[in-house]
Amino acid sequence: MKEATLYSVVVPVYNEEEVLTQTYERLTSVLAKLDGDYELIFVNDGSQDKTISILQHLQFQDSHVKYLDFSRNFGHQVAITAGVDYAQGEAIIVIDADLQDPPELILEMVEKWQEGYQVVYAQRLKRKGETFFKKWSAKMFYRTLHKLTEVDIPMDTGDFRLMDHKVCQELRKLNEKNPFVRGLVSWVGFKQYALQYERDERAAGETKYPLKKMLKLSLDGITSFSYQPLRLASFAGIGLSIIGFCYMIVVICQALFTTTVVSGWSSMIVLQLLFSGIVLIILGMTGEYIGRIYDEVKNRPLYIVEEARGFEEKK
Ligand code: UDP
Ligand code: MG
Repeated sequence: MKEATLYSVVVPVYNEEEVLTQTYERLTSVLAKLDGDYELIFVNDGSQDKTISILQHLQFQDSHVKYLDFSRNFGHQVAITAGVDYAQGEAIIVIDADLQDPPELILEMVEKWQEGYQVVYAQRLKRKGETFFKKWSAKMFYRTLHKLTEVDIPMDTGDFRLMDHKVCQELRKLNEKNPFVRGLVSWVGFKQYALQYERDERAAGETKYPLKKMLKLSLDGITSFSYQPLRLASFAGIGLSIIGFCYMIVVICQALFTTTVVSGWSSMIVLQLLFSGIVLIILGMTGEYIGRIYDEVKNRPLYIVEEARGFEEKK
């Protein structure tokens, strides 16, 4: 007889004591409806609150629950990567801990997977209860990313998705130091399906994504999938040289045919500010790439697991 399908659900958690139990309950009631067995992998990303004791308690009570406890906060994308590394299921689902991604959608994802799609990602039609700034910046980010990259990374799509174990096998090989998981999943390819949904409000607690983390995520997204920002330097250089050359002719003509040469201090200052601004932006952009090259060269492990509970002897 064929063994029952194993589903893995990966949930990154960072200071989620307020929602964790609720999330567990809602996930469990959805996963019980699946046609196979499941494992629920929580990745505790160095939380400072009671998250870990809640996880210990859940794991003690329910043998479906497994958890990885990081030695510190390594970030959302790294937590997902770790969960996927440890997942043993035939289909692997990644979902946020705050119930913004409705767990009920998992059943539809599984249906699509059974129809033969290897990646089923959830695409947001609407986001409820988020600030205007967050929605606007996310929208701008996905549009910019889309323009800059050659890999077709779907817009308005987070990490809520189902992936076949074959896709995850390929993902594990990539081993990037600043992973932008949703981009990497597009990069590996396979048959993908977009499931549209409306994103709910956070069930409790506050966002764990301050501006700083959002900036890191967007820079990782752009720099790992596009060289365009580096080309910016060349384009800006060419443009400025053309302007400079034209202006040089003007200056020479002025010097030859007029007597009013010394005026123009303000234009000097304006040009100086403009050019040093552009040069600094370009230097910074170059630095972003060099920093990432440095990370890859150092080749440190992506994360450190202090404790892994519930996984049979593996790893
Ligand atoms: N998260 C994490 N590490 C972090 C920040 C966030 O594991 O450093 C988790 C968090 O617990 C949640 C998910 O990533 O499960 C998404 O975070 P959040 O809901 O705060 O982001 P938002 O929905 O506000 O963009
Ligand atoms: Mg959220």
